[in-house]
Amino acid sequence: MLVRIAASPEHRLHTCQWVDNSTSCRNDISGRLFPAHLRDRHGITNADSRVLKCRWDGCREYVAGTNMFPHIQQKHIAWVYACYNCGMEFPRADTRNAHFHQCRDTGN
Ligand SMILES: [Zn+2]
Ligand SMILES: [Zn+2]
Ligand SMILES: [Zn+2]
Repeated sequence: MLVRIAASPEHRLHTCQWVDNSTSCRNDISGRLFPAHLRDRHGITNADSRVLKCRWDGCREYVAGTNMFPHIQQKHIAWVYACYNCGMEFPRADTRNAHFHQCRDTGN
């Protein structure tokens, strides 16, 4: 069964729940625009290696700036990459791609 590209996390809308001034952001952001949104609206850049407090609604974790987007992806927006062949889900695009190449070759 083929998973439609349109349903992949890069294109899906995710609700931002980053809290600024005690207000949750609540904007619906397309996945591939999320890093730019975090940078422009919330000042989070992946070039910042300082450890920052994650201000996502309800989160109390401290995360290095460089890991903030992966942290948000995995913990808060349940961003998963589905295998195009079998639909199995992975937290990272590269692990999905590695799986997909094998999965496709088995003709599953
Ligand atoms: Zn936001
Ligand atoms: Zn968090
Ligand atoms: Zn697969």
